[in-house]
Amino acid sequence: MTRKVDVLILGGGLAGLSTAYHLKRFSPKTSWLVAEKRMKPGGLAGSVEQDGFVFDHTGHLLHLHDPYGKKLILDLLGDNVHTLDRSSWIYSHGVYTRYPFQANTCGLPPKVVQDCVAGFMKTVHRPRPVPPGLSFKEWCLRTFGEGISKHFMVPYNEKLWNTPLDRMTTEWQGRFLPKPLPEEVLYGSLFDQRKFFGYNASFRYPIRGGIQVLPDALAARVGSVSYGCEIRHVDLAEKTAVISGLGEVRYERLVNTMPLKQFLGIASPLPAAVRAARDRMKFVSVYNLNIGIARANISDKHWIYFPENKFPFYRAGFTSNFSPKIAPKGATSMYIEVSRKPHEQVDFDRLERGILDGLRACGILKSGDKLLSRVWLPIPCAYVVYDFERTPAVRTAMTHLASRGVESIGRYGGWKYSFMEETILDGKRCAERLLGRAETQDSRGHDRELKPLK
Ligand SMILES: Cc1cc2nc3c(=O)[nH]c(=O)nc-3n(C[C@H](O)[C@H](O)[C@H](O)COP(=O)(O)OP(=O)(O)OC[C@H]3O[C@@H](n4cnc5c(N)ncnc54)[C@H](O)[C@@H]3O)c2cc1C
Repeated sequence: MTRKVDVLILGGGLAGLSTAYHLKRFSPKTSWLVAEKRMKPGGLAGSVEQDGFVFDHTGHLLHLHDPYGKKLILDLLGDNVHTLDRSSWIYSHGVYTRYPFQANTCGLPPKVVQDCVAGFMKTVHRPRPVPPGLSFKEWCLRTFGEGISKHFMVPYNEKLWNTPLDRMTTEWQGRFLPKPLPEEVLYGSLFDQRKFFGYNASFRYPIRGGIQVLPDALAARVGSVSYGCEIRHVDLAEKTAVISGLGEVRYERLVNTMPLKQFLGIASPLPAAVRAARDRMKFVSVYNLNIGIARANISDKHWIYFPENKFPFYRAGFTSNFSPKIAPKGATSMYIEVSRKPHEQVDFDRLERGILDGLRACGILKSGDKLLSRVWLPIPCAYVVYDFERTPAVRTAMTHLASRGVESIGRYGGWKYSFMEETILDGKRCAERLLGRAETQDSRGHDRELKPLK
């Protein structure tokens, strides 16, 4: 028998859970169903427990900026959260320099420091305008100069994005790449500058249980999520979905949170222009190796960027420094991130050997270190590539989906670069749109009464 719901939500990650939570809160009469293919909530914001360690999908740290998002997330975490001052670094030319590279070149070989400072000063004293529509590479050159681009921005970002930077736009980076003042660049080339730059000077993280505790708490408020239910096909004209374990579900409105490109692969009918847009959407995969090491306090850092090609990874972090309670006593836990083009064949044994050799080469691991645990957590669709085709393709797809009553939200449904707080807010805003209200609170912050969907 076909089941009927007002809102069918594809995916029980933070975006899907937040949509359901806000629908439930704002309009108890609206019926909804969250279908999640895995057996637990959280998607990418989930954790895995193994050998006494809790491993996330690489680092998942909470950067809270929005008053509503912050209040909700802290309320969900209760007393199981603490705040840490960021300790993030870059390892290149055999030395550690503080993040961000552009403000902290002290300690690098003199020629590298000279390249970076002189190049940056040219952007200040002989500035070339930064017109809209520049490639990311050209933007780096004009914003930070030749040296900083050559020694960090270009190699690091090409390693992460697996894409030539002259094909990428600047849309994704927003506040993520701060431009320091000339005096800060100069000071940071001479001294260890302990000043914080950028959007994430501090972050929050759960004390116990890894980041999984956040979606677990949200799912508990949602109350009912259909796990082990994979969406196989969506008929956009009939407004039906075929879901394993549930059969056919008829919906009034659909909220997609699975990767937009993949969703367009199981949705029909689609006009040729939307199929072409889908084919133009690009992404990269991240292969995340998590390890537990039988040695305490291997590093006092939170995470380190590796721009050089001799290291197969672009970033590595120390999860046990986010909270000592997620690793056994006397041990350190780490995540290491490698970026690859989608569908590239990966020889995990070989890659793991390369990673461990790299960690030894930079002195993080010692030759006698014993691994207590290791787990690969691949993220097939990790970063949406902001090339020049991305935004027109997303616009074409979203316009069509909107005309079929579909919202596509979250980091992957929205086909964008975003983070957990924004994802939770995406779900709230989506619930508000579905209920026909732009704002759900009055000027005093009290919930407005909302009309049910029908
Ligand atoms: C390497 C990396 C590091 C990150 N670090 C941070 C960080 O430090 N801080 C931060 O705030 N954010 C971070 N993020 C971003 C954060 O992970 C996302 O913003 C957020 O988790 C996205 O949630 P989502 O619900 O949009 O997507 P997802 O978590 O991907 O949820 C989608 C859900 O849909 C389910 N699904 C997929 N296909 C189907 C199907 N056919 N049927 C049923 N269910 C399906 C999936 O199983 C999943 O549960 C990071 C992301 C990456 C890739």
